[in-house]
Amino acid sequence: MALRTIRVQGDPVLEKICKPVKELTPRTKELIEDMLDTMYEANGVGLAAPQVGILKRIVVIDVGEGPVVMVNPVILETSGEQTGDEGCLSIPGKAGQVTRPNYVKVHAFDENMEEYEIEGTELMARAMCHEIDHLDGHLYVEKVEGQLHDVTYEEEE
Ligand SMILES: [Zn+2]
Repeated sequence: MALRTIRVQGDPVLEKICKPVKELTPRTKELIEDMLDTMYEANGVGLAAPQVGILKRIVVIDVGEGPVVMVNPVILETSGEQTGDEGCLSIPGKAGQVTRPNYVKVHAFDENMEEYEIEGTELMARAMCHEIDHLDGHLYVEKVEGQLHDVTYEEEE
């Protein structure tokens, strides 16, 4: 397992537009593995490649239903609306209210470069929008309603 350093807000890499992945080289596969390890270690539900300093269109997500790898993800469809607290591993210890679609359908490629479509609602829809925003250099704080607030993590019972 290899952990990568998570870049935090203020790092210019988080504001850049990422390049599409043309082929999955062994190095890219290693990046995906490392992104998953880094996300789980940080207790995150999603991580985008620019957050570890790599300007490639790759996202990993796990909302508690197993890991999902999205290479070159494109949002095909959205509907509805949800407003709720959102946080980001690149803005540690903070959260803020963001309105997102409640349903999202995405086209992407998996870790074997097989194409697929995935639908998500609620947290999954929010995570897909948030992570795909990272690939275009956007952070959730641009969309936040009101102030960011500090997050205190509750102990698990
Ligand atoms: Zn984020």
